[in-house]
Amino acid sequence: MWTTFRSRSLWTRGGEREGTMLENVNYNLMETITIISRSLHRYENYARDASESDCRSCREIWRKIAEQREMELEMLLSELHSHINTRKLALKKGQGRLFDKLDQARALFPELEGRTIKVGVSERSDGLASTDEWAIWFRSRNVSFYVIGHELTHLLQGGRGVPEGERSCDLFTLARDQLFCDAAPGYLDLPSTVVTHNGWVRIGRRYMLHHIAKEALEERDKGRRNYIKWFEQEVKRFASKMY
Ligand SMILES: [Zn+2]
Repeated sequence: MWTTFRSRSLWTRGGEREGTMLENVNYNLMETITIISRSLHRYENYARDASESDCRSCREIWRKIAEQREMELEMLLSELHSHINTRKLALKKGQGRLFDKLDQARALFPELEGRTIKVGVSERSDGLASTDEWAIWFRSRNVSFYVIGHELTHLLQGGRGVPEGERSCDLFTLARDQLFCDAAPGYLDLPSTVVTHNGWVRIGRRYMLHHIAKEALEERDKGRRNYIKWFEQEVKRFASKMY
């Protein structure tokens, strides 16, 4: 499913997976992460129901609750990562972690199922994609989910379901899953109440971005041409009410 460029042996997927005996502490974290992730999906549906019934205040209640749960989720995830990292980093300088992230991201792209994608190193930019050879490149192994999602979304452009252009690539990435809302999208204009100066999406704002991005795609389906602008305005409008 993943292959690497031969000239860059550092990026081959080496080593075997570690034993899978789960300690209780990790199991507890993972179970709670699953429960909260499921409830986030539920709130998303509730918010959509509220939108359909034209109840703005109801929709905002569900978003607020979702944001609180999202903060709990971030807390649990970073704890879990710290458990995993200390072992993995010692194992192979972050390489295992990159491929774990790629696997996690790819599971959210059923369109790419069965397709082998080359992964390589780019010195030129944070991320690159080529639809000609089904290849993606990253500058660093410690890449954000946003960058991974953005490059995988590029593979779906060119008549493969996603319209051309960097801005639509960003929006479709955010709309795909909340996972990809960790770092600030490079081509969308978002207020500083949502993104930090060093390029991350603030905790508690990720769910909102994902949800509004999905709404923007629904607007596009209904025929709205300026759905990307609509997204930026809607994020600004919503963010201005939060502080
Ligand atoms: Zn791009």
